[in-house]
Amino acid sequence: MPEGSRARTSCVGPCLLFLKTVDLFNRPDGLQDIRDKVIAGERLTPEDGLRLFQTKDLNALASMADFANQRRNGRKASYILNRYINYSNYCILSCQFCAFSRKKRDNDGFQLTEEQMVSKAREALAVGITELHIVGGLHPSLPFSYYTGFLRALKAVDPRLQLKCFTAVEILHLAWLAKKSVRDTLQELKEAGLESLTGGGAEIFRKEVRSRIATGKESGEEYLDVHGTWHGLGGRSTCTMLYGHVESLEDRIDHLDQLRRQQDLSHGFTGFIPLPYQPDNNRMPVQHAPSGYDQLRTIAVSRLYLDNIDHITAYWVGMGLKMAQVALSHGADDLHGTILEEHIFHMAGAKSPQGTPEADLIRAIREVGREPVQRNTFYEPIRVWPTELRPAAEIAAGGLALA
Ligand code: SF4
Repeated sequence: MPEGSRARTSCVGPCLLFLKTVDLFNRPDGLQDIRDKVIAGERLTPEDGLRLFQTKDLNALASMADFANQRRNGRKASYILNRYINYSNYCILSCQFCAFSRKKRDNDGFQLTEEQMVSKAREALAVGITELHIVGGLHPSLPFSYYTGFLRALKAVDPRLQLKCFTAVEILHLAWLAKKSVRDTLQELKEAGLESLTGGGAEIFRKEVRSRIATGKESGEEYLDVHGTWHGLGGRSTCTMLYGHVESLEDRIDHLDQLRRQQDLSHGFTGFIPLPYQPDNNRMPVQHAPSGYDQLRTIAVSRLYLDNIDHITAYWVGMGLKMAQVALSHGADDLHGTILEEHIFHMAGAKSPQGTPEADLIRAIREVGREPVQRNTFYEPIRVWPTELRPAAEIAAGGLALA
């Protein structure tokens, strides 16, 4: 056999392998035009976003979202040492999806005194938290002074403690109580110690969906107006989307699009937190929480679509820490916090623990090759940890060399 033909014959195996490899990486996913936009840093259209939601090729979607995330945030992934406090679960509204709210006639309603909140804050400070995250229902009778009072009392415990409080609908309720404009109400709360609004209560903005899941709640426009007004005062906030119930994929894109337009105007959203719907103990005819596939694609599409919001949080309370960890390679760069005492998702059936130790968050981040960063309320770094795995006991003892 001539030399050349033996060479051609012996090439068949490696060449086939090469062709298969090329085939593996050039997937016929129909998303090349969107991939080109992502690489070029071009803004995606609502139609692009919908096609991303509709693809079944989760790996292709993840690779784009991870690229977009790493271009923005590098290999850092953050978490926060925080504590949740719900001051009361009494609420004058009855949102259909809500398992948290109670009426005064219910025997498991509660409201905390200022002293009780201060006591919880002191306990949490002793374990190193930097943020209190405080929300409640729209209480039927507490006066405006109750809210400014607890803000001042908590700030007095430690002025470095960051207070992230109230959803947009709570702000509207407080404005009604104070008989002031939203702007003046926010200014007064800011003077009392409020540093960030929470992102809760966004649900799904489209009114056809909103009226089915949250009758009586503020409109999407009002939610955005409260946050935009707060941003105009120099404040920062997060934003959310409650997904996986009765909404369509088009509704999700419309929601993301409205957030993106608001951010273009007011620039105050620090992070976006997609919240997977929890189906228990409420009045919504939805049997299942969103699947793992749905949770990961929603994280990925959010990262790609919200090109003007720096951070995407994988909320471990709703997803479970294992799924949130996987989300770190699907576009998320934050795991939220230690929380210590979560009620709202757990009353709706969340199976995750009520809090998570810092060591578990660090381990989850390291295991996927990211660099753990303890952040503050505004996603600014407090501590950067080395990426290599270390025993949890060493972390608990504070024995790590900080980068
Ligand atoms: S979601 Fe908020 S506003 Fe709606 S019923 Fe529950 S506590 Fe009240």
